[in-house]
Amino acid sequence: MSQKRIAIFGSTGSIGTQALEVIAANPEKFSAEVLTAQTNDELLVQQAIKFNPNVVVIGDEKKYFKVKEALAGTDVKVFAGEKALEEVAAMDCYDLMLAAIVGYAGLKPTLEALETGKAVALANKETLVVAGDIVMKKAMEKRVPVIPVDSEHSAIFQCLVGETRNRIEKVILTASGGPFRGKKPNFLVNVKRDHALQHPNWTMGAKITIDSATLMNKGLEMIEAKWLFNLAPDQIQVVIHPQSIIHSMVQFEDGSIKAQMGLPDMKLPIQYALGFPNRIANNSPRLNFRTFSTLNFEEPDIKTFRNLGLAIEALNKGGNMPSILNAANEIAVYAFLRNRIGFLDMTEVVEQTMNKIPFIETPTLDEYFDSDGEARSFAASLIQM
Ligand code: NAD
Ligand code: MG
Repeated sequence: MSQKRIAIFGSTGSIGTQALEVIAANPEKFSAEVLTAQTNDELLVQQAIKFNPNVVVIGDEKKYFKVKEALAGTDVKVFAGEKALEEVAAMDCYDLMLAAIVGYAGLKPTLEALETGKAVALANKETLVVAGDIVMKKAMEKRVPVIPVDSEHSAIFQCLVGETRNRIEKVILTASGGPFRGKKPNFLVNVKRDHALQHPNWTMGAKITIDSATLMNKGLEMIEAKWLFNLAPDQIQVVIHPQSIIHSMVQFEDGSIKAQMGLPDMKLPIQYALGFPNRIANNSPRLNFRTFSTLNFEEPDIKTFRNLGLAIEALNKGGNMPSILNAANEIAVYAFLRNRIGFLDMTEVVEQTMNKIPFIETPTLDEYFDSDGEARSFAASLIQM
């Protein structure tokens, strides 16, 4: 089998660096041909020297000359800026994009990859939350797969192998519950960023770690599941499962439920997406049921973790509402990370923005972009007050 040429958009992040470990462990299967970073030029340069890609992109244009100079002795092409991400996504030097940029910024390069016929391994859930209908339609039209990397969706995807003719009754997304499971608003009101950044089971980028603490992450994942698996909102259920051993489940029409399990380790869904349809042998630690005696399940507390409730509202409403939710949430999370607002204020910002921005039932791509912009400005205006 020839090497699959991979483009990692967001190579310096938590997903990106783990994907490079998978590539380094399987040099006969994969090569890294595109690497991109927003600000961490030093790591990007190190990665480029190690993996010798065709192209690197540094998002922050001020760092272009630094990267260019550091790679002067190599034949790695260097580009900079937001527009370059889309241009590079359209290049022919790779076969599969790993979409591992965080947030709305990942949408345009991913659309460009699909437009030019590349398979996409999708970590960037916000892409589907913002414009899932357009993204999935584009993938269908170009006949290219969108393979999930998010662990829950990878689990569902793995459960569906061999089931193409069988209808899904529902999917059950598992959630760890985050660091504040069981806590009430009188506790959450005082939570600070450093505490919220401590996730019990997973080490991830800052934004998704905060989203996991507020349960917004699970809400975004419900919307992501709707588009990936073509589901109605009432076919998507969330259950809290603190051990993160069952990564998610699918229930079929005969009542049979399939679960995908394993120790929590993002490298598994990453390598499954890169290698699909083949599994790749590795030496990661194995789950031992004799030492892992209990798996627990409980109902999510959406009265306390209202972000999940708001995301369900957006999922049910459809149209541009998920994109409004997402934009307001991105602004709120970054404000919380800078200690500008409190933990519960994040929910206020999202809710008020959802109530303010005009609803559009079937938006065009430009209308999605506009809703995103309007929602961001409004959310930011709430925070400055
Ligand atoms: P991260 O913050 O660790 O890394 C983000 C990457 O995107 C970095 O390479 C950064 O340089 C780049 N980036 C950031 N802002 C950018 C911008 N404006 N333009 C271009 N590039 C930009 O994030 P992460 O935890 O790796 O998550 C990446 C995506 O994967 C997110 O959408 C997240 O929800 C999803 N995801 C992550 C995990 C995980 O375990 N980390 C699990 C499931 C899903
Ligand atoms: Mg997940």
